Amino acid sequence: MNRGQKLRAKVRAYRRPFRVPLRTARGLITERRGWLVRIEEEDGTAGYGEAAPLEFFGTETLADAEWFFRSLEAAGTFDLHEALDWAGTRRPCCRFALASAAERRAVPDEAAGRQPFGCSRLLPAGEASRPAVEEGLAAGFGVFKLKVGLGDPVQEQRQVETLCGLLPEWGRLRLDANGAWTPRLAADWLAWAMELPIAYVEQPLPREAEADLTQLDQDFPGQVALDESVVTSDDLKAWRDRGWRGTFVIKPALAGDPSDLLEEIAGGPGDFVFSSALETAVGARASLAVAQACPWPRHALGFGVEGFFEEHDPFGGWTEVPVQRDGLLAGKSAEQLWELAES
Ligand SMILES: [Mg+2]
Repeated sequence: MNRGQKLRAKVRAYRRPFRVPLRTARGLITERRGWLVRIEEEDGTAGYGEAAPLEFFGTETLADAEWFFRSLEAAGTFDLHEALDWAGTRRPCCRFALASAAERRAVPDEAAGRQPFGCSRLLPAGEASRPAVEEGLAAGFGVFKLKVGLGDPVQEQRQVETLCGLLPEWGRLRLDANGAWTPRLAADWLAWAMELPIAYVEQPLPREAEADLTQLDQDFPGQVALDESVVTSDDLKAWRDRGWRGTFVIKPALAGDPSDLLEEIAGGPGDFVFSSALETAVGARASLAVAQACPWPRHALGFGVEGFFEEHDPFGGWTEVPVQRDGLLAGKSAEQLWELAES
C-alpha cells in the first residue's frame, strides 16, 4: 500500500467469551474484546488489522482504541503517516492494527520452506494442567507453559514437580508469574527451578521493579524472561541498554508498528519468544509474520491458546499443532472474520 495515498477506515467490535475466566495474578477476565479494522485504498482494495488492547500490559484502553478508530472512520479519508503519528506511542495496539492493515502484513508466501517453528501449549490452572500435559505430549507438544503466582507457593511447586515428571527428556516447562512475586520469593523459585526442566520463569516481578529484575537476571543468567516489561519496541531497547541477558517474550499485537519492532529486534542478538495476546487470527497472522522475520534462534511460539476459548469460537488465532511448517495458522480469512464482527 502506498503510504502517501488517502485511505478510509472502518471498524468493528468482537467479543469472545473465555471457556473458563482467565485467571491472572491481576484478577479474572471473562471475555476477550477488541476491534477489527478494515483499511481501504482509493481503488477499493482493502487490508485488515486488529487492535486488541490489554490494559494490564500498559496498552491503551479498549475505549481509547474505539475512540481512535471511530474518529478515523468519521474523518472520511486519512493519511497513513498522520494516523500512525496520531496513534503515537500511547496507542501501540492501534499502531499495530493500522500498520499491519496498511501493509497487509501477514505470513508471506516465501515463508513456506523456511525452518519450522515449534509451538508451546498454555496449560489450564489447577488439576486440569496434568491431563492437559498428557494430551499435549500425545499430540507431539514438548514445551508447555503454566501460570504461577496465583496461590500457595508450596502447592504450586508440587504441581510443577508433577508436571515436570511427565515430561520426556527434551520437554520443557515455562513458568509465568505475571509479576506476582516479591524479589525474595522470586529468587527462591529460581534457585529451586534450577534442578528441573524449566525453560525460564517469565516476569517474576512487576514491570516497575526494574532494579530487582536486573538483579535476578544477574543472579540467574538465562533463567528469567521479561513479558509485561517489554510491551513495545521502546521497552525492548531500554532493557537491551540495561544489558538484559534473559529471554524477551514479545506479543507483537501489543507492540506497535511491526516494522519498528523488527528494526529493534534486528539491532542485536537475543532470545525472543513470540507470543499471542489472545488476539483473533487477523492479529495473530500479522504477529507471526514478525516471528518469521526475526533473524534470531527459533524458540517455540506462544500461540497454543485454543483452550482459553469456547469450543466453536470462530475467531481462531492459535496454533493447533506442535510444529508449524508453513501457512502457520489455519482458520478463517480476514474477510470472513470481518463479517462475523459487529458493525
Ligand atoms: Mg506472560
